[in-house]
Amino acid sequence: MTKTSNYPLIIIGAGAAGLAASEMATRRGVKHRVLEASHRTGGRGLTEILADQYPVDLGCHWLHSGSINPYTEWATKLGFDYSISRWDFSMFIDGAWYFDTDATAPFRYIDEINARMEGCQKKGDACSQWELADSDNKWNQFFQYWVSLMSSVDADQVSILDICEYLDTHEDWPVMKGYGALIARQGVDCPVDLNCVVTKINWGDLPISIETSQGVITADRVVITASTGVLNAGDIEFNPKLPGWKMEAINALPLGNSNYTFCTFEPDAIDPDAPDHILWQRDDQTFWVRLREFGHPYAFTSTGGRFAWWLEKQGQNASIELFSEVMVDIFGSSIRDKLSNFKVSAWGMDPWIRGAYSAAQPGKTGMRAELARCIDDRLFFAGEATSPESFSTAHGAYQSGHRAINQVCDSLS
Ligand SMILES: Cc1cc2nc3c(=O)[nH]c(=O)nc-3n(C[C@H](O)[C@H](O)[C@H](O)COP(=O)(O)OP(=O)(O)OC[C@H]3O[C@@H](n4cnc5c(N)ncnc54)[C@H](O)[C@@H]3O)c2cc1C
Repeated sequence: MTKTSNYPLIIIGAGAAGLAASEMATRRGVKHRVLEASHRTGGRGLTEILADQYPVDLGCHWLHSGSINPYTEWATKLGFDYSISRWDFSMFIDGAWYFDTDATAPFRYIDEINARMEGCQKKGDACSQWELADSDNKWNQFFQYWVSLMSSVDADQVSILDICEYLDTHEDWPVMKGYGALIARQGVDCPVDLNCVVTKINWGDLPISIETSQGVITADRVVITASTGVLNAGDIEFNPKLPGWKMEAINALPLGNSNYTFCTFEPDAIDPDAPDHILWQRDDQTFWVRLREFGHPYAFTSTGGRFAWWLEKQGQNASIELFSEVMVDIFGSSIRDKLSNFKVSAWGMDPWIRGAYSAAQPGKTGMRAELARCIDDRLFFAGEATSPESFSTAHGAYQSGHRAINQVCDSLS
């Protein structure tokens, strides 16, 4: 970066939204740079290699709504294979395989709640998802776990109006070489300055002056893609302060938390006929245990909501021990010594993210549109939380990056 140079546009953050914004800015001929605090691009898209062999996603994993997801096209173009097979669940409850009911029963309960949500949506009711559940339903615990994965907060913390807006084609396609790797590859030609932490944006006068760990840079327009976790924490100072309506939107769309634990298992450790997708439940805990993705000998599970925050704070060994116990419960004590190469994500502690994905608080409506609204044709906002119908996803972030650049170009013309 030339420290004192003035750019027509600066983009803050090189996650899915920032890289897409950069791609669109290049396409529309707007000279710009992308400032990224981390040592890498991709943000909440992060693929790492498990046991030196298997790419695994610690962040976004599925091409949600695959047939209408722009990253599906990128995957095809860039040679990233993905799987479109649907999964079947088996249940392991209180120490035994559960054959008394069909495995779709918990999902039918979720469908019931979704139908109730649609009824409430018509009435404009901004209640939480929790208020629509039956506390004594057999599958309620599963429902709560599922919501905590979908929204990264618990059912009492998310507005049904938000969830009803979400556009879902129910096509969730994992990427073999990793979704995080795909995002980084898609943005490989973007002009990104890594390890460049933006600390303050002085936007009262033009040009806007941006203070960073690598010096001051000026710009006529700024697109901000940092998460609402980062913005809520006040990690980037705004001078003058952001207006009240913008702060209200940021506060109403906090990040929850969600984490993965992975491990490999020895080839003979698990019966080849064992199911690949297991819903495990005991006492007040539920986990979705997944085995052999793309045929590889590894297992993984996810946590969400308050439990994910709590477990992350206990440290990685607590996640490893918990997952090992779940695997022992299902496959017997002999499996413990056959599990290795553990890998655990920690999104809550990531200083440049501070959580997983945004969820609109009950009672707060229209906040995603407010978050996406620009200020004085100089500060523009993108990122998953600004997406009206694909929030909490990588493709929603991508689309928001394009939308922000179109706003920038309108403001320049
Ligand atoms: C565990 C988990 C599972 C997920 N699963 C899926 C899934 O299966 N499918 C899916 O579509 N989505 C999934 N998501 C959500 C998806 O990953 C995100 O919605 C998306 O990647 C967000 O992109 P973004 O560009 O909006 O934000 P980010 O990825 O957060 O990008 C913002 C960037 O800004 C940078 N930044 C922050 N502060 C500063 C600063 N001060 N200065 C400079 N740079 C800064 C950050 O380092 C980051 O790179 C998952 C997320 C998690 C955590």
